[in-house]
Amino acid sequence: MKVFKFGGASVKNAEGVTNVFKILESFKNSKLLVVISAMGKTTNALERIVDLYFAKDNALNQDIDALKRFHVDIASDIFPNHHDVFESIQGIIDDLLATLKRNKSTQYDFVYDQIVSYGELLSTTIVSAYLNQNGLQNIYVDAREFIKTDTTHRDAKVDWETTQSSIKNNLPEHNLIITQGFIGSDANNFTTTLGREGSDYSAGIFAYCLNAESVSIWKDVPGVLNADPRVFEETQLLHHISYGEAIELAFYGASVIHPKTLQPLQRKEIPLFVKSFQNPEEEGTSVKK
Ligand code: ADP
Ligand code: ASP
Ligand code: MG
Repeated sequence: MKVFKFGGASVKNAEGVTNVFKILESFKNSKLLVVISAMGKTTNALERIVDLYFAKDNALNQDIDALKRFHVDIASDIFPNHHDVFESIQGIIDDLLATLKRNKSTQYDFVYDQIVSYGELLSTTIVSAYLNQNGLQNIYVDAREFIKTDTTHRDAKVDWETTQSSIKNNLPEHNLIITQGFIGSDANNFTTTLGREGSDYSAGIFAYCLNAESVSIWKDVPGVLNADPRVFEETQLLHHISYGEAIELAFYGASVIHPKTLQPLQRKEIPLFVKSFQNPEEEGTSVKK
């Protein structure tokens, strides 16, 4: 079993979703668990929705409409007019509205997790349906049933024992599993999140518990570079680095890998590949012992 992770940049529009399809199609003969983040800047949009909700600002409904429109527009580009996915999107938006209406909590971080998690639910619903429609049969799995955490909202700590046993005992058997990054749930099944950019970490958690053969995180860069290309013009690709070097890079701010991702992989010596979703045939960076 290999674990793949596609971040927000890789599924920011319809073209991104079809590109993910092409990459997955080229791995048709591998057993895959695929972790997907919210599309584009959706998590930022949801953070704003939480703020508007707490501020009792009337712009809330407009923002929720815009969130829906963004996802419906992407789906409209890649699905025929009549497809169940449009009802699924509406169902998720209705659920978000109901969650806000029902909420009595005044705890910001708790409410944040209940709302911001909808980004990953929307993206995985769309991607899973698109793959199924185009012949890549897959099953959609709710990561919250598997990644179990404490109640530290917005920075939840993994309960490794429970997570390990739910994955071992309850994860369905299938060659292609689609699930969410970033989200988990506590012992009372309330949604938690692992911290911003935490989807890489989700991939690491699943890989650890599944004893995966490798993790590939698909990025908008050729791999891990010796500097952030947003800041430096002339960067070089690091072809092979050790876990220790990668941890140091991530710790000191190379945001291409979420710092928590590496430790579980290092413990089981599971290699991490950082690859370009734009040039998937290129080797990228391998992180190993
Ligand atoms: P994701 O789509 O998975 O969320 P991120 O945007 O978090 O991906 O990570 C990719 C970004 O990390 C790149 O676009 C790049 O600007 C930035 N980055 C920072 N430091 C580095 C580095 N040393 N090597 C490569 N990319 C880096
Ligand atoms: N969607 C979340 C975020 O934007 C998690 C992730 O993308 O890794 O922070
Ligand atoms: Mg991201």
